[in-house]
Amino acid sequence: MSTIFILLATSEHVMQHAEPGAEIPLNTTVTEDDSATAPFSGTGEMAARCRVFDWASTSLGPVSGWSHSLRTIVSTMLESRHPMFLWWGPGLIQIFNDGYKPSFGTSGRDVAALGARGREHWAEIWEIIGPQIEQVMTTGVATWHQDHLVPIERNGIVDNVYWTYGYSPVRDDDGSINGVLVVVQETTARMHALAELEKARAEADLGRERLSELFRQAPAFIAVLRGQNFVVELSNTSYDQLVGHRDILGKPIFDALPDLSGQGFEEILRKVLDTRTPFVGREIAVEIQRTRNAPPELRYVDFVYAPIAESDGTVSGIFVHGVDVTEQVVSRRDAESAHAEAEEARASAEAANRVKSEFLATMSHELRTPLNAIAGYAQLIELGVHGPVTDAQRESLRRIQRSEQHLLSLVNDVLNFAKLEAGRIDYDVTDVVLMDVVSSVTPMVEPQLAEKNLRYDVDIASDVVVRADADKLQQVLLNLMSNAIKFTERGGRISVNLGTRSCDDANASEAPTGCVLLRMTDSGIGIPRERQEAIFDPFVQVDRHNTHTIGGTGLGLAISRDLARGMGGDLRVRSVPGEGSTFTITLPTG
Ligand code: ADP
Repeated sequence: MSTIFILLATSEHVMQHAEPGAEIPLNTTVTEDDSATAPFSGTGEMAARCRVFDWASTSLGPVSGWSHSLRTIVSTMLESRHPMFLWWGPGLIQIFNDGYKPSFGTSGRDVAALGARGREHWAEIWEIIGPQIEQVMTTGVATWHQDHLVPIERNGIVDNVYWTYGYSPVRDDDGSINGVLVVVQETTARMHALAELEKARAEADLGRERLSELFRQAPAFIAVLRGQNFVVELSNTSYDQLVGHRDILGKPIFDALPDLSGQGFEEILRKVLDTRTPFVGREIAVEIQRTRNAPPELRYVDFVYAPIAESDGTVSGIFVHGVDVTEQVVSRRDAESAHAEAEEARASAEAANRVKSEFLATMSHELRTPLNAIAGYAQLIELGVHGPVTDAQRESLRRIQRSEQHLLSLVNDVLNFAKLEAGRIDYDVTDVVLMDVVSSVTPMVEPQLAEKNLRYDVDIASDVVVRADADKLQQVLLNLMSNAIKFTERGGRISVNLGTRSCDDANASEAPTGCVLLRMTDSGIGIPRERQEAIFDPFVQVDRHNTHTIGGTGLGLAISRDLARGMGGDLRVRSVPGEGSTFTITLPTG
């Protein structure tokens, strides 16, 4: 014993704890006998370090005093490449192998660990491992921990390290448990990789969930049909809505939706499957039952059948994607047919109008011939061609002629109007001196003016020139003039002058670059406000009873306005019942 002690004292002197990073010669020889180094027979770094370590300074005592069991387990450890660690004896003195060493990190903790007392060395995790060691020591039952988080201090920080490890009891020569062997594998890298994988999977799941939500809520209808029987693998809300929310998932589509059969869809699907070519349909009519027990409804859909190709090139199904365009199609078709109907109505109205105008033209023409004959024969009688004419006969002849004249003017109105309606009036528009036209009308109305004792004033500068057809303008003026005479009481007043308002105020139907407003004002009976527009419609008279006695067809103003507009101008009225009326002709400046 004393020799050993001396030897140990010597070795203690020469064998200090190795400093971190200090090189330890692997072939170190010690001053102890072979039995002292025998457990450290390996060629690794830890074997070398164990060889030079001062075990006598620990509770294990010098190596020469180590039990057979301890020697065996230590040499087994040091020669194994699997990470192993041993606590031995009541002080739980530590020994570990090269495999275990990297677990300490690179800051030299491994140096302090060798030969240290377990409880002191692992103070930061003793709460976790202390009871486990204790349990193994007392019960002899090994533990097993897989991917267990045991944070340790290494590289200057507390590192969250995962381990898969087992604590096994190690028996001493007398059979009692005197140590705990830790066979361990650090799994931090694998656990981090697993965590990353888990995170990626969670993100992928979230992405998939979002995608399927988008897919579910998409306004377009979407479905996936698999296999030769077109089993519905997937359908979104819009698709379910289209097919009346029937139970279709997992069923062959034509079994689940028998009303779809016989409409050509199966053939198209099969062709897409066989030819691997997508089908695009536009406004395809489909009769589909959308409500239980209701008859099928006609819908129109735009859709695509796209083959779903697998990585081996086979086509396993069809992706259905489309939009219900029924409302668009129906409203477009309605609009189209409404348009066609309107066109037809317009065409037939035009045709009817043409027929009416042609009839009126023919009738007027046919009426004029016998009227002319009446006038001619009356004149011959008046001239005494058939013998002397008595005063009474002369008076009757005058009445015949007045009636003939009246009838002729009516017939002429109708003929004019018919021509206007048929668009058969030609305008010979030239620069016209306005006063010339106004003056040409005066002699024609003078007898009537005189007969009713009406005052007639004209105030138009002689140099005013307008763009007009002189004959048509004369006709308009004559018509306005005879109306003014007709609807003004005896002793009244009629005046013709130029308006002072601008052309815009006059509201000409076309906007000529410049225009002249020719006004004819009477002090007659006037026209009620609500009738002032209607009198320009054909056959409209304010007071039929009155006009019966006065005469007229109700065509004069309709013709006059048409003629004024035909010359690029317009005709309008302002009137106060009981005070009089002003008719304004607008004409482009010459
Ligand atoms: P007609 O004079 O042949 O009846 P018009 O088309 O020329 O037809 O006139 C339509 C109606 O407008 C007249 O019947 C009359 O009621 C009203 N009217 C036209 N001019 C005047 C006027 N100067 N004063 C009052 N009423 C008028």
